[in-house]
Amino acid sequence: MVPTVFVAGLFHETHTFLNERTGLDSFRKMALFHGQEIIANNNGSGSPMDGFLSFARERHWHVIPGIQMAAMPSGMVEEEVLNYFREHFFAALEKSWASLNAVYLVLHGAMVCENTHDVEGRVLQELQQFLSSRGKHIPVVAVLDLHANISPLMVENSTCLYAYRKNPHTDAREAAIRAAMLLEKIMMKPGVQQVFHATPYIIPPTGLGTDADPMKAVLHKAATIEAANPEILCINVLGGFAYADIEDCGFSFTCCTRGSAEQAEAWLAELELELTKYLYAAYPEENTLDEVLALTGQQTPVLLIEASDNIGGGTPGDGTGILLPLLAAGKKGVVAVLNDAAAVQECFNAGTGRNVLLRIGAKTDSFHGEPVEFEGTVQNLTDGRFELENKNSHLASITGTHVNMGPCAVVSNKQATILLTTHKTPPMDLGQLRSQGIVPEAAHYIIVKAAVSHKQAYDPVAAASFYIDSPGLCTSNLARLPYRHIGHKIIGLPAKG
Ligand SMILES: [Zn+2]
Repeated sequence: MVPTVFVAGLFHETHTFLNERTGLDSFRKMALFHGQEIIANNNGSGSPMDGFLSFARERHWHVIPGIQMAAMPSGMVEEEVLNYFREHFFAALEKSWASLNAVYLVLHGAMVCENTHDVEGRVLQELQQFLSSRGKHIPVVAVLDLHANISPLMVENSTCLYAYRKNPHTDAREAAIRAAMLLEKIMMKPGVQQVFHATPYIIPPTGLGTDADPMKAVLHKAATIEAANPEILCINVLGGFAYADIEDCGFSFTCCTRGSAEQAEAWLAELELELTKYLYAAYPEENTLDEVLALTGQQTPVLLIEASDNIGGGTPGDGTGILLPLLAAGKKGVVAVLNDAAAVQECFNAGTGRNVLLRIGAKTDSFHGEPVEFEGTVQNLTDGRFELENKNSHLASITGTHVNMGPCAVVSNKQATILLTTHKTPPMDLGQLRSQGIVPEAAHYIIVKAAVSHKQAYDPVAAASFYIDSPGLCTSNLARLPYRHIGHKIIGLPAKG
């Protein structure tokens, strides 16, 4: 039998502490596709959706594409976005449900709306209600980002969740394929159950890289348990997304198994113990810029990691908390990327080769420094489109391999070369710089607005890398954030007594 599988996608990582709201426009800018548009826009794109579609094609599955929506990480999502998704998702299901053998979803797992904190849980619940009210009992499988904040509702209303294993997410497409393989197994032999185990810990993005503990140790133990117990379909280690002020924020585990729930719960409790052992590594220390400038020697380039304005975590990408003091200290050879559409426009108005006096950055809100006065020459004006150098870059998990930064300008003076973008674009691939004529290897200092996702691209060309404590809402110091909804969850290491 050739199965008929309905596929849809809803992908957003929501930073609820930002003032900005994320509306339908942000999704239209990146991905808002209906029906066959999903296939046309994802085939060969390197995205998780591409992974699913290529697997389905290989297996000759009959795929019914519903709706796909994705936007760059940003502030609270407007309810109208969720309503739009619902309307089109259920309209497409209404037409096709009778013929379906399964539903496959590409989700992030950390999307939040003002009145719907658990967006994915709610969508999955409504999907189950839709199916069961029609007497339809079919598997619902979803691939998730490793930063998903899992809720009981998500687990109760899905058959199997499967999360990326790597951060940077170099395995996003592969994870989508593994999730489709699990769906295939479940269609052939139903009878699985999922177990959810939430931990009390909320860990900042800088503590969730999978090449370092605690993730490394916990993922290793999870893989060992998976390998030794054939009844397990998968164990997910979900780092969570710290900047979602919701009840379900935090580090959690799920297990999909053909065995007993009690046994699965025991394994997940073991994994929490493992996490607790390595918790000291989950809240990394950051340096002040002055400390780092005193430390660094002749070897270049030096990466100055501005995790507090981590674009992949939702902040505006126009923070100046490092750039301003670095220029004030008289440093040279600085390379920075700032999202500043107004400054790009000024450069276009002036033209290539002309001198401009700009006030750049810190325009979105008051949390990310002060604007920088920058006088320089417009070196390059482009449409801001580039291809990923690394097709498995973390960025492919969000945008696919074709990236659109909107119109861009490169301005430089004796101290710095600055790439100004119209759409904020996380620094996850060096194609972003090289496509605009910037050679990262020639820089002395590169300011990188990321937590972990830059590592695969930037670490190989860097002489050294330092996390700088600077102002911004993606701070690693979670105690600076005004949490209201997380209950008794733990946001830092207990003080040593
Ligand atoms: Zn992620």
